[in-house]
Amino acid sequence: MKLLQDRTAVITGGAQGIGFAIAEAFVAHGARVVLGDLDAAALDAAAARLGGEAVARTAVCDVRDADQVRRMLRGAVDAFGSLDVMVNNAGITRDATLRNMTEEQFDQVIDVHLKGCWNGTRLAGAIMREQGSGSIVNLSSLSGKAGMVGQTNYSAAKAGIVGLSKAAAKELARHGVRVNCIQPGLIRTPMTEAMPAKAWDQKMAEIPLGRAGEPAEVAGAAVFLAGDLSSYMTGTALEVTGGRLM
Ligand code: NAP
Repeated sequence: MKLLQDRTAVITGGAQGIGFAIAEAFVAHGARVVLGDLDAAALDAAAARLGGEAVARTAVCDVRDADQVRRMLRGAVDAFGSLDVMVNNAGITRDATLRNMTEEQFDQVIDVHLKGCWNGTRLAGAIMREQGSGSIVNLSSLSGKAGMVGQTNYSAAKAGIVGLSKAAAKELARHGVRVNCIQPGLIRTPMTEAMPAKAWDQKMAEIPLGRAGEPAEVAGAAVFLAGDLSSYMTGTALEVTGGRLM
């Protein structure tokens, strides 16, 4: 059963990691996707892996810049005729303890995650409310539920994404637009592969299922939230954590 047949989805930070896995799963479920990311060459390679321009287009788009996000969304509607799903996934980390974190590191993370997600939610929401339908999926994190040492910036942004999503869910519900979050735990991606071995082992010890998650396992939750199986869900935060910090 294809759950997203002929839907159009935009995925920020879609050239690699969880964003790319979401794109792969969406295409497998019949969707056409637009990948937004910073690096044009990485985007081209990702779109080619998905099957080329019949199913995947690209946009160099920094989510911090509202004009770039607006152009990407307009491009998706022009290319494929609608905007049915928006996944705000782009992210960075700039980890440091409170004692060592610079104001710049704090601002960078807040800007990409929180401002970026706000840009994507409000601009996709504006198109979807006119359409009378749509699903917005925002990538929060277990860090936003529990707080993580060395991540006061990231934990604040990821908790903020939950609040942002709930507020937007209330505003957009009467227009047929749903807004939900995913809170992944430890997932094996380029972002987490940069982590020191000691930090990785500490996190692993907290996971009842006894392993890190794969990007495809987050993508499964995104397919569910994007499509009609979750038609009565809005304003929720779905944990994909192997049971960690439940
Ligand atoms: P990733 O592999 O680093 O991928 C993130 C992508 O976003 C990269 O392609 C990155 O480009 C891009 N990006 C960064 N800043 C951007 C900007 N300003 N505008 C547009 N794109 C930008 O990370 P991931 O692990 O797949 O994470 C994806 C999302 O899941 C993030 O929101 C992350 O916080 C969240 N998450 C991840 C985990 C995990 O364990 N991996 C857990 C919980 C939540 P560059 O490479 O050029 O920077």
